[in-house]
Amino acid sequence: MYDVTELRRDFPILSREVNGKPLVYLDNGASAQKPQVVIDAITQAYSHEYANVHRGLHYLSNLATDKYEAVRGTVARFLGTPDENEIVFTSGTTEAINLVAYGWAMPRMQAGDEIILSVMEHHANIVPWHFLRERMGVVLKWIDVDSTGALDPQAVIDAIGPKTKLIAITHLSNVLGTVVDVKSITRAAHEKGVPVLVDGSQAAVHMPVNVADIGCDFYCVTGHKLYGPSGSGAIYIKSARMAEMRPFIGGGDMIREVTKDTVIYNDPPMKFEAGTPGIVQTIGLGVALEYMMDVGMENIAAHETALRDYAVQKLDGLNWIQVQGTTPDKAAIFSFTMDGAGHPHDISTILDKKGVAVRAGQHCTGPLMEHLGVNATCRASFGMYNTTGEIDVLVEALELAHDLFA
Ligand code: PLP
Repeated sequence: MYDVTELRRDFPILSREVNGKPLVYLDNGASAQKPQVVIDAITQAYSHEYANVHRGLHYLSNLATDKYEAVRGTVARFLGTPDENEIVFTSGTTEAINLVAYGWAMPRMQAGDEIILSVMEHHANIVPWHFLRERMGVVLKWIDVDSTGALDPQAVIDAIGPKTKLIAITHLSNVLGTVVDVKSITRAAHEKGVPVLVDGSQAAVHMPVNVADIGCDFYCVTGHKLYGPSGSGAIYIKSARMAEMRPFIGGGDMIREVTKDTVIYNDPPMKFEAGTPGIVQTIGLGVALEYMMDVGMENIAAHETALRDYAVQKLDGLNWIQVQGTTPDKAAIFSFTMDGAGHPHDISTILDKKGVAVRAGQHCTGPLMEHLGVNATCRASFGMYNTTGEIDVLVEALELAHDLFA
């Protein structure tokens, strides 16, 4: 039985007030709050178990290395691959996609080659590909979403041509909440010999993910959205793709031997992890993922589906709000504009006075904003600890904002 009241006690920040009101934290799409076990793990690591990893032959270094390296297996289990060597630690999705752009795509693409993207990608899954467009003449092909925010997998598949070298696509839109059928896309893409990168930054937070089932080549997650520390993250890279990659960032740890004239790289995945990593962040990520798996990804998904349904029903009653993204199986992420409101920033400022934290702006999705024909939106994005009562507070605060703008 999912007891959200009990679960909320695990997150100390949720009991604080903001502007004299109980905090209603609905900015999970940007970053999630941390359970006490993660905070404790960070304190424990720095207080009693800290040293650099992989290098020392002393007790603390070995202890930190064991704790850090154990997270590879945790991430592998969380993402559904039996091979932990297919997991590369990163500082987050942004670094992960840049790693693929520089390490895998750049050496194998030339002018005129194509990368297929959806119009709802986050800038982290756009700008690295723009680098290839600017520097190498690679062509970016964009797939639109329909008026509900749905992405037709067939449209992606139909766009594959003889010059298509990669599909880079989100699993779950951070603005619309749309869930993309990445499994069908991957199956069809592979029949045509095209690898698929999936940006799982949002999806892995809200639903069970199994990369073996999806079949994709690359799958990125970012720790701070997964109730873990900022500066942590990981990418699943299918071993066949990893074997094709050249290193991206050079430095210590990713090498076996360096002379004045030569360099011999470490074996993957360490070949792609240069320098002192985010040791404690990664240890914290491992604890966060264990926490999520203990709660149960199916249970989290079911709880958030109930929140979504309640929020849809409540927001439907506000006919002066325009919600972007109305697919029936969307995640509990609601981006909206409001009649009479100048800029979504004004809405979020009023909500903040009521203790309600939402995000306003473009959400790092310039092409999507252009497609939707809006400058910006306000976004309420839910997590495992949110409640229907908080949706009521959101609605009351929106009504207040609407009255003020009228
Ligand atoms: N992709 C999506 C869908 C996101 O929502 C985000 C973060 O907002 C990112 C990528 C980038 O993640 P990070 O900034 O943690 O690297």
